[in-house]
Amino acid sequence: MQRIFRSPWSPEAYAAQEAHRQIVPESVCPSCAAPTKLWRHGRYERWLVSVMGALVRLCIARFLCPLCRRTISYLPDFALSYRLLGPDTLAAFMDGQHERPDVRSHHDLLQGYARQLFGFARELIRTVGAGLGLAPPLCVEKGLWPWLKLAGDGLAPVARRLVMTFSIGLLGRYQCHQPRGP
Ligand SMILES: [Zn+2]
Repeated sequence: MQRIFRSPWSPEAYAAQEAHRQIVPESVCPSCAAPTKLWRHGRYERWLVSVMGALVRLCIARFLCPLCRRTISYLPDFALSYRLLGPDTLAAFMDGQHERPDVRSHHDLLQGYARQLFGFARELIRTVGAGLGLAPPLCVEKGLWPWLKLAGDGLAPVARRLVMTFSIGLLGRYQCHQPRGP
């Protein structure tokens, strides 16, 4: 299972300080809902493009629930599940900041993300409803991006809330965000 946490680190600081070693897991298993001490269970590596357009290698902390035996990983909220580019880069693209280094060097990929965002939007809106504190947009094409922008202080916290509160990703619904239940 994958959880998203509010990162006090930038991607570069997270990597340099090996922040994955400092992650404290939840005291209740997010998958089976039992109060338990999750065991540290290695890590995995993934990549992220920084705001400056550089590739940053991230180690992601992984834990194991001794009761349900499911692994739980903790992804910092400057990254998106299964995506090379993070929410800040996607937001900059959506806002038309095409000269920013990360946007400029991954323009085609970002066009793909935007297609996924709009393609998934109806399901996202159906799932979330007014749960972000705002009435959902009536028109996806015109209203989706303003709605997401108003929903939080940046796209990273919004994407984190979607996963942590609604078990849904910004660009898709994934098995790894679903609890199994007790
Ligand atoms: Zn469990």
